[in-house]
Amino acid sequence: MATLEIRDLHVSVGDGSDGSKEILRGVDLTVRSGETHAIMGPNGSGKSTLAYAIAGHPKYDITSGAVTLDGEDVLAMSVDERARAGLFLAMQYPVEVPGVSVSNFLRSAVTAVRGEAPKLRQFTKEMKAAMDALAIDPAFAQRSLNEGFSGGEKKRHEILQLELLKPKIAVLDETDSGLDVDALKVVSEGINRFGSSGETGVLLITHYTRILRYVKPDFVHVFSGGRIVEQGGSELAEVLENEGYEKYVKAGA
Ligand code: ADP
Ligand code: MG
Ligand code: MG
Repeated sequence: MATLEIRDLHVSVGDGSDGSKEILRGVDLTVRSGETHAIMGPNGSGKSTLAYAIAGHPKYDITSGAVTLDGEDVLAMSVDERARAGLFLAMQYPVEVPGVSVSNFLRSAVTAVRGEAPKLRQFTKEMKAAMDALAIDPAFAQRSLNEGFSGGEKKRHEILQLELLKPKIAVLDETDSGLDVDALKVVSEGINRFGSSGETGVLLITHYTRILRYVKPDFVHVFSGGRIVEQGGSELAEVLENEGYEKYVKAGA
């Protein structure tokens, strides 16, 4: 049983000159393994900033508040330590790496998180099984990391990492609206499998309600103006789908 706790988190982002702007203005959130939480909100409300802050992106300055995983101070950890502690942050490896195959990357990631290299034959078997379950073409394993990945391939790769790394808490920023329905279903099935395994807590960040037709979150949090302005169960996603974010934009201002 793992618990990610975010307490009164305030985050600013520097503009490179003298000024900096407060984006998160006191976020409180608790995610436990086995729970799926959706964070939804209008563009510019700070959803991705929350993900970057948890990930430890250097551009995002935590001015006050706390993030802990089972009581351990996440904010004091290096990015690698966060991964070893059981945090999975989907935007952690967005870069294209020509010459590094998906398979090599995955084996290194598994080695980093588990603390020892899996036997090659064992790992290959594990990877093939996971790819099978996600309907990923076997040739994908030999592709260069992130090079020319379509939106759907990026998302499949994300879920493939989840399958192999089995994190305690996964933060998925679904910034990509360009998923076709098949990709959306694969990703959703992956998320649902993790949610129901009881071993992983999922924090799904999304602007669009579309993915919530396939993923039923236990909790929905509405983000506006850098804070949570409304919370509820999955029925709240339906309200948002019908009514949009308009009334919350005022609440968060
Ligand atoms: P969302 O994901 O909800 O669309 P973001 O977290 O991306 O929102 O952005 C929230 C606000 O913070 C926006 O006003 C955005 O312009 C600003 N912001 C986010 N990241 C940066 C950055 N790296 N540099 C400057 N401003 C940023
Ligand atoms: Mg505060
Ligand atoms: Mg965003």
